[in-house]
Amino acid sequence: MPLTDRLLLGPGPSNPYPEVAAAFARPLLGHLDPEFLALLDETSARLRTVFRTENELTLPVSGTGSAGMEACFVNLVEPGDHVIIGVNGVFGERMCEVARRCGAALTRVEAPWGRAIDPEALLAAQRSRPDSRFVAVVHAETSTGVENSIAPLAALQETDTLLLVDTVTSLGGIPLEVDGWGIDAAYSGTQKCLGVPPGLSPVTFSARAVDRIRTRDTRPQSWYLDLGLIGDYVGAARKYHHTAPIAMIFALHAGLGAVLDEGLPAGWARHRAVGDRLQRSLPELGFRLLAEEGHRLPQLTSVALPPGADDAGLRKALLEGSGIEVGGGLGEYAGIAWRIGLMGHSARERSVTTLLGALGELLN
Ligand SMILES: *Cc1c(COP(=O)(O)O)cnc(C)c1O
Repeated sequence: MPLTDRLLLGPGPSNPYPEVAAAFARPLLGHLDPEFLALLDETSARLRTVFRTENELTLPVSGTGSAGMEACFVNLVEPGDHVIIGVNGVFGERMCEVARRCGAALTRVEAPWGRAIDPEALLAAQRSRPDSRFVAVVHAETSTGVENSIAPLAALQETDTLLLVDTVTSLGGIPLEVDGWGIDAAYSGTQKCLGVPPGLSPVTFSARAVDRIRTRDTRPQSWYLDLGLIGDYVGAARKYHHTAPIAMIFALHAGLGAVLDEGLPAGWARHRAVGDRLQRSLPELGFRLLAEEGHRLPQLTSVALPPGADDAGLRKALLEGSGIEVGGGLGEYAGIAWRIGLMGHSARERSVTTLLGALGELLN
């Protein structure tokens, strides 16, 4: 098989940072080796910096972003609990499905695809169900390219309801303030704006959330994702629970190093600049932006194809002719739209130039 070099401009994975590829070449350590445990602690410390939090319970969960989603739900929800979930795309729907499987009753607060969820509607839903365990919302809805506003939800701090946020596509790409916005629990993924391959899900929990986990009546239904047990390994006890994915943690450590060397504000500005340029240019080629203005994510652009364009044929030509991967539409957007990611190491001017050049040729 030839070694294929792709420009990954889909909804994740993005191209890893060069420091990350180098980290995979490190000789392996054991998962209880003091050298590895020190690196794991430093990884959690870097995660706190990137999440902008002081939360002690901050760690990479084994598994992709969806594992982090499940970890949050199975640890914070008990059967019969009520939760409120914002839904304006595939990942809000996924949260509803996970909540149902945990035995939760749920209120959905919806917005049409391509539009942002009104934070006031989420707060109003909490006022009518003040017994709700948490309000959950996706910060960056990767299925539509829409950013949902989180900052106004800091008002939940005045209530007994927690705030849970999906930051899979936002972490490292756009401003996110876990402590500043009163977020009680957040999960993310490595393969989007952190520029690391898929395989870990960074999570963070506030003191309120940890309290909630400690005072459960029942054990979480997942043994693997039980944060009480995982905390005994990641925390001071260092007790074996499951074997840490050591090489992935090397990679995440290196990716976070690259993110922090650049500086968070500089990284956010880079994502914004290349995303804006792509979003200004695509309409000139006949594409139509689908996300509501003012809520467009720079790192994920959703566009309707030019009239008459052949979705699968064009994506195949881009991949085979130019080595560029872009994502097809999901759900309501399947077959009629694309999702173009500019995330992590892929968020470069040269990615935009290369993509626009290839598209210009194919469409003429
Ligand atoms: C990608 C993504 C997920 C799921 O992550 P996986 O790594 O595919 O499990 C969840 N939420 C959002 C917003 C995502 O973009």
